[in-house]
Amino acid sequence: MKDFLYKKYKPKNIKDFFGHRVIKKIFNIFIKKKIFPSNFIFYGEKGTGKTTFARIFSKSIMCIKKNSCESCKSCTNFSKKIDFIEIDAASNRKVEDINKIFENVMYRPLFSNYKVYILDEVHMLSKHAFNSMLNLLENISNYVKVVMITTDIKKVPKTILSRCFKIFFKRFSYNETLLYLKTILKKENILLFNSNKSIIKYIALNSKGSLRDALVQLNYIYMLIKSKININEIKKHLDIFKNRYAYCLLDCIIKKKNLIKTVKKIIYNNINFKNIYIKILEIANKIIILKEIQIKKMFVFIKIKYKLYKNINLNCIIKLREYLIEEIYSINLVNNAENFLAGILKINYKYNKYTQGQT
Ligand SMILES: [Zn+2]
Repeated sequence: MKDFLYKKYKPKNIKDFFGHRVIKKIFNIFIKKKIFPSNFIFYGEKGTGKTTFARIFSKSIMCIKKNSCESCKSCTNFSKKIDFIEIDAASNRKVEDINKIFENVMYRPLFSNYKVYILDEVHMLSKHAFNSMLNLLENISNYVKVVMITTDIKKVPKTILSRCFKIFFKRFSYNETLLYLKTILKKENILLFNSNKSIIKYIALNSKGSLRDALVQLNYIYMLIKSKININEIKKHLDIFKNRYAYCLLDCIIKKKNLIKTVKKIIYNNINFKNIYIKILEIANKIIILKEIQIKKMFVFIKIKYKLYKNINLNCIIKLREYLIEEIYSINLVNNAENFLAGILKINYKYNKYTQGQT
């Protein structure tokens, strides 16, 4: 049940794969024309679909009928890892490991069109292992395909990269993630009322472009909703609460009102003081970026609650950010209510003094 949604909505073929339109187009052409490069490297941040796509693509080209038919010998034996070998390079770093993994590379596939090797986290290989890989890639048979996957392409030697077809998996945008979550909710027949849509927006924003993270978080919410737990109770379990206090506190400092009342609420609700500072710092950063660059379309994910601060002076928010960073150092030393209250009062005092000088 833990990752139920993630497992349930794992795409089975390229058509069902969410997003990455250009990548899907490229691979559909490969499959249609039946001409593929021998070696691939898929790179990009975690949760962007590299490994899932590599498996789907492998199954598809290995299928001896058409596009992962699920009935041919290749498809039915896919999970038995006979012609399809997937390894985690992080735990098979040594040259001996690589040599063992590829020891049967000279034999033709038993059930499939191709023999496919997937090496996840390939940047973790040792120097000698990479040398061995290089030798393999140079002498590879046309019935073997190698898909290397990495979250850190800079650590992969150029000699390896130059022999691979490189595919970049970009992070999903806020809007794409939101659309994906809404699609899943629709399929699961879950209706969220207007006041509760903030939860989904929150997940989309905080999954930071990883659909896997977004789905795992949605899974948690899903279970709570199915258990008929009040939506306000759910919100209490989420970081969204901290976000709200951070916005509120920043608003109090900028508007110069209700500061003590808000600090009291934070203390009584036992919210981590350091996290509050970090959230305010994140919001201040977003405001500075938007004020400085002013290309909102490029930073759609930043727009949340921005309107609250559209009239704040850029110099003032930069100063406020400075004061905040000083207090993050302080709360690292003593993370308690007194230090938090003193820190906020100090920020407030310095900010007031600074803004008076600005007018
Ligand atoms: Zn098949």
